[in-house]
Amino acid sequence: MSVLEIRDLHVTVGEGDDAKEILKGVDLTVRSGETHAIMGPNGSGKSTLAYSIAGHPKYTITGGTVTLDGEDVLAMTVDERARAGLFLAMQYPVEVPGVSVSNFLRTAATAVKGEAPKLRTWVKDVREEMTALEMDPAFAERNVNEGFSGGEKKRHEILQMRLLKPKVAILDETDSGLDVDALRVVSEGVNRSRAELTGDDAIGVLLITHYTRILRYIQPDFVHVFVNGRVVDEGGKELADKLEAEGYAAYVKDSKETA
Ligand code: ADP
Ligand code: MG
Ligand code: MG
Repeated sequence: MSVLEIRDLHVTVGEGDDAKEILKGVDLTVRSGETHAIMGPNGSGKSTLAYSIAGHPKYTITGGTVTLDGEDVLAMTVDERARAGLFLAMQYPVEVPGVSVSNFLRTAATAVKGEAPKLRTWVKDVREEMTALEMDPAFAERNVNEGFSGGEKKRHEILQMRLLKPKVAILDETDSGLDVDALRVVSEGVNRSRAELTGDDAIGVLLITHYTRILRYIQPDFVHVFVNGRVVDEGGKELADKLEAEGYAAYVKDSKETA
C-alpha cells in the first residue's frame, strides 16, 4: 500500500518581480488502488501541479510538502522520483533525438528497476502492450516524440506506464483534443492497470483533466475540483456529472478564472 501526500503545496513560476504564485495551498492524498480525478478550468494550475510533482525546474516550491510513503519527493532528483514509484510522463524531454521508443523504454525500465529487464520477456511484454494499445509495431523503431501525433504521444505515455508499473501515476490529459479512438485505448490501458494490479502492486492514479469526457471511460473513485490554485470541492464520481451539467461557474464566481 502506497500513499502520495500533498500538503499545503505552494508553487510560483517566474523570477523576482515577475514571480507569480500559481498553487496556493494544495492538499491531496492518493493511495494505491484509488483513482482520483482533478478537474478545473483552464489556467487554474492543474498542469503546474503535475509539473511540480515531476520536479520541473521552471516551478519553484515555496511551501508545503509532497511525500510518497513518507519519503520527501521534493528532495528527490527527477530520476529518484521515478525509482520511488512515481510515474510522471512529463518528466521526460519533449523529443529525444536519435533514441528509438524501444531503446527508450528499456533504458527507462532499467533506471526504474535498477536492473535491465530480461530480454525475452521484455520483448514479449512490449509487443503485447503495443498490440493492446493498438500501436503499429513499427512505432517501436521511431525516435521518441519526433513527429508524434497527440494520440501517439498519449499511447506512448500509457505504454510507459504499463511497462514501468509505478505505484502512483500522474496523467495530465492535456486539454488538446484526443480523437475518440485514442481516448478509448488510452483509457483501456489505464483501466487494465487498475484491474490487473492488486495488493502491493496496486496503482494509484491521479488523472488531471479539464473535460468530463475521459471520465466516461475511466471512472474515478474521487473527484477534486481545482480552481485558482487549490482544491475547492471534493466528492465521488457524481461530482463529475454535476460539473458536466453545471460547469465551474459556481466555483469561480468570485475569481477572475473562466471555465
Ligand atoms: P491548467 O493546466 O489548469 O490549464 P496551468 O498550470 O497550465 O493551468 O497554468 C496555470 C497558470 O500558470 C496560468 O496562468 C499560466 O499562464 C501560468 N503558468 C504556467 N506555467 C507557466 C510558466 N512556465 N511560465 C509562466 N506562467 C506559467
Ligand atoms: Mg491548460
Ligand atoms: Mg493543463
